[in-house]
Amino acid sequence: MRRNRFVSRARQGADADTLTKLARRLSESSSRIEDRLWERRLSELLYDRLARGFDADIDSALDELAKINARAYDDLADLAESCAESLTLSIEDKSHDALLLAIPLLAWSRYKLPTSTLSSALVDAIGAQMAGHLAARGTRLAIADHLYSIDQLPESFGEVYEVAGRLIAAAAEGKRFKVDPKSLREPVAMLADTRYLLAAIVAPQGQALFHWQETGVDPDAKIGALTAFREQAANALQPLMTGCRFRVLSPNAFHAALRQADRDLREFSLEAASAYLKLTFGLAPSQLQGTIAAFEDKRVEEIRVGIGKAGDDDSVVEGVVWPLLGDEEDKAVEDIEAALRALGITRVVTHAHRFPMEYCDDCGAPMFPNPAGHAVHTEPPQDADEQPAAPLH
Ligand SMILES: [Zn+2]
Repeated sequence: MRRNRFVSRARQGADADTLTKLARRLSESSSRIEDRLWERRLSELLYDRLARGFDADIDSALDELAKINARAYDDLADLAESCAESLTLSIEDKSHDALLLAIPLLAWSRYKLPTSTLSSALVDAIGAQMAGHLAARGTRLAIADHLYSIDQLPESFGEVYEVAGRLIAAAAEGKRFKVDPKSLREPVAMLADTRYLLAAIVAPQGQALFHWQETGVDPDAKIGALTAFREQAANALQPLMTGCRFRVLSPNAFHAALRQADRDLREFSLEAASAYLKLTFGLAPSQLQGTIAAFEDKRVEEIRVGIGKAGDDDSVVEGVVWPLLGDEEDKAVEDIEAALRALGITRVVTHAHRFPMEYCDDCGAPMFPNPAGHAVHTEPPQDADEQPAAPLH
């Protein structure tokens, strides 16, 4: 027993090692022809690992490359994402390409944001908008009947691969894709957050996935098509999103869609905080001040923005976490300052010193910087009639 485990672990280490080597050679390649050969060998190994449930090998290879070779890391990460979210399958003896798509929403509400099952009518309505605006002729679609929070989405490469496989099979067979909400985690409640629809699109191999890729269609038709889809999808989703303000983002391949939504959520969260303070406490942007500070745990992890009443340098009423997502710290701070100004919050304090990553011991909420230079818990303004966000501790 022990020996088998030892052997399989050694085998896994060897596969991680092979992935690392192949990725390094790919990163050194100087021609598209050579790229394609390395990519094919890497993809074969990646699909094999994913199909056997050994995606930990991919993570070990990426951990190793992160330390030694940034370019090879990016190449392997790109390919691993691609293999997890797309595959080739045979339908009626013809090869088809298939891709897992995500359609992100940005939403905020004073109440709990929904994560819910979609009615068949709503799935059909979204499907009709996808078919009408996005999908190329001859493609097949399926949409999962659930509005996911980020915590509920598949996370590891293996989980993404598994969900992609099942959703793509549903698209290929023209079946509905039912999600058991009880199998999903309860999301963390936030004022502003992302929500996602998942879909799969299947096209005969080598043919267009999207309408704007079809021969004879102006490639710039993409711009109008996405705008129309986002509007129509927002209309269809309105009843589900009662009590929320929300925006539908462009559908995209799963990993790319999540990245874009993470980026867009940052500014949207500042807008939401400003709108929330106006709606709940009657505080207009001109009565507010923002405080910006970098929070670190060994290195800077994120910028946090405290928003409070102008003139009260000790209290923070609402806060927004702005993850760096690969941006330089200076750029992030500039972006936040510009976003606050665009909202009409012109009084802004930016602290030069770093704060430790602190969370409330009782509720786990992040602590936010105040103008006086401390990290504090958000609390409603002293004179507020309504006290919905008052911490009970
Ligand atoms: Zn707390």
